[in-house]
Amino acid sequence: MNLTIAAIRSGTDPCGPLPQGSFHRTLEDQITCPKCDATYNLVVDFEQATGRFFPENSRPLMLLLQKAIFLGHSNNHSVSHFETAGVVVRSVTPTLPKESRPRTDEGPTVASKGEIGWS
Ligand SMILES: [Zn+2]
Repeated sequence: MNLTIAAIRSGTDPCGPLPQGSFHRTLEDQITCPKCDATYNLVVDFEQATGRFFPENSRPLMLLLQKAIFLGHSNNHSVSHFETAGVVVRSVTPTLPKESRPRTDEGPTVASKGEIGWS
């Protein structure tokens, strides 16, 4: 299975399910925003985290998470939970407030779509 790493802002709870696996490990490495004191803990499936190739396999994922967290600074770090298996970083947000708008400027938010049903 693919290596998945979640980044959860310290002091907050995960907003959604953690990566697969029954046991999770919080890595000693954290990602800290260079512009403020926001810190994110990295959570990985225990077995994957103890795997032999974890250090090299995890590096690109951590870079992605780092980037997402740095970008999140301009957004006041409103996303407290990120997850990636590589390629893209998913923002894990509770399914309510407007903070759940996508990071990119892709037009209307997903949330507004479902409300237009009666045309
Ligand atoms: Zn910051």
